[in-house]
Amino acid sequence: MFLKIIAPVKQVPESGNVKINPETGTIIRAGVESVVNPLDLYALEAALLLRERYGAEITALSMGPPQAMRALREAAAMGCDRATLVSDRLFSGSDTLATSCTLARAVRKLGPFDLIVTGERATDGDTAQVGPGIAAWLDIPVLTYVSKITEISGIPGGTGMSIRAERLSGEGYEMVCAELPCLITVVKEIGPPRLPTLKGKIRSMEMDIPVLNAESLELDRELLGLNGSPTRVVKIDTPRITRGGKLLRVRDNESLDAVLDELIAFLGSKGIL
Ligand SMILES: Cc1cc2nc3c(=O)[nH]c(=O)nc-3n(C[C@H](O)[C@H](O)[C@H](O)COP(=O)(O)OP(=O)(O)OC[C@H]3O[C@@H](n4cnc5c(N)ncnc54)[C@H](O)[C@@H]3O)c2cc1C
Repeated sequence: MFLKIIAPVKQVPESGNVKINPETGTIIRAGVESVVNPLDLYALEAALLLRERYGAEITALSMGPPQAMRALREAAAMGCDRATLVSDRLFSGSDTLATSCTLARAVRKLGPFDLIVTGERATDGDTAQVGPGIAAWLDIPVLTYVSKITEISGIPGGTGMSIRAERLSGEGYEMVCAELPCLITVVKEIGPPRLPTLKGKIRSMEMDIPVLNAESLELDRELLGLNGSPTRVVKIDTPRITRGGKLLRVRDNESLDAVLDELIAFLGSKGIL
C-alpha cells in the first residue's frame, strides 16, 4: 500500500505572545516570533506514523505570507517528503471559509490524494473550522478529533479504501469508519510529535518548495481573501477576571487559630468547603 497524504500546517504567533490590535481586531504579527501551530505537529506525527506503517508520500501545505515557508521547512525537517506554500496578497483577510476554499483548491492542484490530516485547531484563530471546511469544499468525508488510527484497508486508487479510527467524544471514545479519500483532524492523544533530526533539517533547507498564487489556483476572485470572507471580527474583548478576595494575615502564633477559623468560615460562605 502507498498513501498520498496531505498535511496542512499553519504558522501562528507563539501563543504566549498573541496580541490583538483593538482597532482592527486582527493579530499583531510584527515583531512576534512565529511557530508551527503546536497542534499541527500531532497531525504531522500521525502522517509520519502512517508512512512507517503503510508507506506514503506526505506533502505539507501552508497558506500564509512568504515567511510561512519556515513552517514548511520545519515540517520537512520532521520528515515530510514535499511541501507547498499557498501565498498571495489577494489571500490576506481570509476567514475560515476563504481559507478552507483556497486550501481545498490547492489540494486539488497537488493531484490525487488519499488522506488529509489536519490539527484539531489553530492556536490563534482557534475556530477548528478549517479542516472540516476543506473537506466540505472537496466534498469528502471528515472525521474530527481522531485519537487513534486503527486501520487503513483497501487498494490505493481503487474503490473501497477505508479508514477505521477512534475519535474523542464528550463521553469517551467512538469507533468510526470512513471511505477514502477523507480528511481527519487529530488530537494530542494520537501520539507525541517527534523532534526533527539533523539530517532532516539539512534536507529541509535544500528542499525546493513551490509557491501557488491566486492565478495558479484559478479561483474566482470573489472567493478569495476579504472578498470571499463573510465573517468580520467586529470587536475583541479581553475578559476581566475579578475575584472578591479576602486578605488574611497571621501576625503571631496566637492569631493563627483565629485566622484559620476566619479562612474556613470564608471558604464555607463561598460554598468551597
Ligand atoms: C482573533 C481572531 C478571531 C477570528 N475570528 C474569526 C471568525 O469568527 N470567523 C472566521 O471565519 N474567521 C475568524 N478569524 C480568522 C481565522 O481564524 C483565520 O484567519 C483562518 O481562517 C484560519 O482559521 P483558524 O486559525 O481558526 O484555523 P483552525 O480551523 O482552528 O485550524 C484547524 C487546522 O486547519 C489547518 N489550517 C488552518 N489554517 C491554515 C493555513 N492558513 N494553512 C494551512 N493549514 C491551515 C491546520 O491544520 C489547523 O490545525 C479570526 C482570527 C483571529 C485572529
